[in-house]
Amino acid sequence: MSNKKSVQLKPTIQLLVAGASIVIGVAGCTQQPQKVQALSNASLKQTDLVNPGRAGADVQALVKLGPRVAGTPVMEKASAYLIQEYRKAGYMAEVQTFTYPKFEDLGSNLSLDGKTIAGIALNGSLAGKPTARLVAVPNVGNSADFASVDVKGAIAIVQRGEIRFLQKAENAAAAGAVGLVIVNTASDSLSGTLGGKTKIPVLGLSGDLGKPLIKRVQSQPLNVALNVNTRQRVVTGRNVIAHLKGVTRPSVLLGGHYDSVPGAPGANDNASGTAVVLEIARNLSTTPLARQSWFVAFDGEEDGLHGSRAFVSTAEPEFLQGLKGMLNFDMVGVNNKLLVGGTKSLTTLAQATDPGVSTFGGSGGSDHAPFAAADVPVLFFYRGQEPNYHSPNDKQVDSKLLDQTAGVGLDVVKRLLRFDSSSLGEGSQTRANFSVPFAAVTKIR
Ligand SMILES: [Zn+2]
Repeated sequence: MSNKKSVQLKPTIQLLVAGASIVIGVAGCTQQPQKVQALSNASLKQTDLVNPGRAGADVQALVKLGPRVAGTPVMEKASAYLIQEYRKAGYMAEVQTFTYPKFEDLGSNLSLDGKTIAGIALNGSLAGKPTARLVAVPNVGNSADFASVDVKGAIAIVQRGEIRFLQKAENAAAAGAVGLVIVNTASDSLSGTLGGKTKIPVLGLSGDLGKPLIKRVQSQPLNVALNVNTRQRVVTGRNVIAHLKGVTRPSVLLGGHYDSVPGAPGANDNASGTAVVLEIARNLSTTPLARQSWFVAFDGEEDGLHGSRAFVSTAEPEFLQGLKGMLNFDMVGVNNKLLVGGTKSLTTLAQATDPGVSTFGGSGGSDHAPFAAADVPVLFFYRGQEPNYHSPNDKQVDSKLLDQTAGVGLDVVKRLLRFDSSSLGEGSQTRANFSVPFAAVTKIR
């Protein structure tokens, strides 16, 4: 068990992680048709239990709680809801808490001519409210650029580009500026990370708002009030972990984050994935496959994958090595096309399971990433970007898409857990070849 200061683990987790493991491999060949046949019929019977619309109801129950921002009281209600649902399905379920530092912009802007224009404090910026003349710095704010103008006691404004935000801020402070505004080259808002501490407050402005301002101040002097309103706090995250009693070394881990960004109800991002994992768990709960599975709702994903990173960094190496796959579901409630990414052998398995599934380039920056970094085979389920992403309008999903995703996920789990690769001895490469005929995919009734 790691003793990273930032992670506080519930005692039970330690106990569980130290238990025995049940390993089931992946096989590609049809050497044991008899066994295959018997198992698939039995388990097929199971998947028919997928209850249409139930996952959609979970999404609405989570959305009703309001934006699920890590470290806020809503997350206690959301985790309580998930624990109740997993326990109803027969699983043990509890919270793994962890902590991490979080930089928050509580609303930053620039005021001039009696008007306030909104901006975004750069991540890591010092808070501050200086009022001073605004001075345009040429080019991209190299030290020579600052030396060419007088920013002593002034608020400097400069274009984004070429050098890092932090370098611009250090050059501005060194030249005596009391604040800095960085203007995006693109028309939209600028949110970035400084990646270090600054001596002065730093605000990012959209190109639409900032470029005309640079032009204006180049021709006439202007007094402005900078308001960088930020705070740094320690967030306590709550991963929800569910599994059957005594299952300490699962062969498959299914997960998805249940936190959302501020202001967004997070129906698609990511109550959808959270509900699909819960629905798969419900359907597996009465099958022997549940004894090889863990289910996790991660917190803190939107702030930087903190929940999955905390989970992986506290898991015993044997626990991770025992995983045949980590299946991550993120944004699976909007857009008809179901996409998969991740480890080739698992994306191949997913496509063998449902030819309607496509792969998307790259692996995707979600909770499977820390597992992949720990050499766990990963499979990422995703339906692509959509207009309500990270917005107050992310309130609805198509529950049929959730059921379809749950069906595919369930069949992938069955295929993944169906065979004991060790009985096939050498040539485990065959593991990647999933040409075994599979009776049928899960039918959604
Ligand atoms: Zn997400």
